[in-house]
Amino acid sequence: MAHRLQCHKGKCFNLHGHSYKMEVEFEGNIDVNTGMVLDYFDVKDIVAPLVENLDHTVIIWERDSILIEKITELNSNHVIVPFETTAENIVEYFLGKISKAELPKEIVKIKVRVCETENTYAEDEKFLTK
Ligand SMILES: [Zn+2]
Repeated sequence: MAHRLQCHKGKCFNLHGHSYKMEVEFEGNIDVNTGMVLDYFDVKDIVAPLVENLDHTVIIWERDSILIEKITELNSNHVIVPFETTAENIVEYFLGKISKAELPKEIVKIKVRVCETENTYAEDEKFLTK
């Protein structure tokens, strides 16, 4: 996924890309009927479409009108978001989407980590209230 940080004073101002990695954790009690906290296939059903939506796109802050204009001219896949595209904000984006998924009542916490490189990441967690 490609992005740029419009407000960055250094190199990240330039359009560039990352092979992002994301880790998603679900925490909760084991359902006595299934023996699982959450079925891996359900995890995939929740997370894969979110990743697919952003894979090989340019993610663009809605305030970056010049980049929106140029990427549109190039007819290149892009996703416009209401936030500066830092790892921190991308974490919040995924956390918000994943927490809105239909999850078993046993799930009490979701944690998302987004890695831009091998050494840099942001993460946050959200407790679910039922
Ligand atoms: Zn970057």
